[in-house]
Amino acid sequence: MRLKLAVIPGDGIGPEIVREARKVLDKVAGIYGHETEAVEVLMGGASIDAYGEPLTEESLEIIRKQDAILMGSVGGNPATSPWYKLPPEKRPEAALLRLRKEMGLFANLRPAYLYKELKGACPLRDEIIGDGFDMMIMRELTGGLYFGARKTEEVDGLLTAVDTLTYNENEIRRIARRGFDIAGKRRKKVTSVDKANVLDSSRLWRKIVEEVARDYPDISYEHMLVDNCAMQLVKDPRQFDVILTENMFGDILSDEASMVTGSIGMLSSASLNDTKFGLYEPSGGSAPDIAGQDLANPLATILSGAMLLRYSFDLDKEADAIESAVQQVLAEGYRTGDIMSEGCTRVGTKEMGSLVAERIS
Ligand code: NAD
Repeated sequence: MRLKLAVIPGDGIGPEIVREARKVLDKVAGIYGHETEAVEVLMGGASIDAYGEPLTEESLEIIRKQDAILMGSVGGNPATSPWYKLPPEKRPEAALLRLRKEMGLFANLRPAYLYKELKGACPLRDEIIGDGFDMMIMRELTGGLYFGARKTEEVDGLLTAVDTLTYNENEIRRIARRGFDIAGKRRKKVTSVDKANVLDSSRLWRKIVEEVARDYPDISYEHMLVDNCAMQLVKDPRQFDVILTENMFGDILSDEASMVTGSIGMLSSASLNDTKFGLYEPSGGSAPDIAGQDLANPLATILSGAMLLRYSFDLDKEADAIESAVQQVLAEGYRTGDIMSEGCTRVGTKEMGSLVAERIS
């Protein structure tokens, strides 16, 4: 298969971690008989320096012709970088919002997977962790409270603020379908999270999820109220497979779920539209404090590469190969500084990438 990729190294640690993810993807492609065709695109601070804006029309045009994007992260240190003297719409992060909008990336996926080798970083008790957990938070990314009309005005002499939470049935249906599709590639369970005891938008969410569920008879599903879900995530995280939820609930729950897995350097993510196109990137930022020092953990980006193969190209075997190689490297005791613990071998960004690539089979 030909894998047409836009590669956005980004800023800070971005170029270092993306280079290692490409090393691993190229190795997988070689072994499994695929061909990667990667075109590098500047975005964020790097694009501001080169062209005066964080994402150019030309870059977008190139991106539109590819099947998927592999990205580092964009941005610098807001306290010291000249990029933050620019107006907000010209800053590095504006490129991300534009890219999501232009490509219609409405479904955000964040796996929360606890490697047993990294159990020490999990703040939960041993009996709760058990053999570890493996869940996927599926968050609607382009609707809901963050995109609704808002205003602050004086009403009867009192300052009053209004935010609007709107979803239409199509927006709910498309994310629900994505959630059930993804569950089909996993343990076949969807937990749809809402606040249907209070909110109309949640009652519609629940109704549409039930309709969609009828088309997926082999996938079990349940509804859970968001407050209960927040509790269950720390009480019994092993019960979850796919958590399907709207934008704001997903924002909060995905951070909670990722915290219980430990390091930010391990967290991959994907944002998908209604085709196979997707943007794959680590959940963390550009970590300017450690950029250029061979200190960054490339595993989140490498694991984002596995998601890219699985969700944009349906190459499940190849994605499994990357995930197993990462597991093996951790089991052998190799660690970057952020996940280092006693008795392990400390390695840099490049060596970590090479160790994973060498173990692909
Ligand atoms: P950050 O995630 O970059 O860093 C937070 C801490 O985590 C730092 O101590 C950093 O060294 C560490 N860290 C992050 N990734 C790591 C990795 N792979 N390996 C080891 N350690 C890692 O968050 P921040 O400092 O708040 O933000 C820095 C810049 O990144 C800002 O400009 C911010 O806007 C941007 N940002 C970009 C994205 C994105 O591109 N999607 C996301 C979040 C933040």
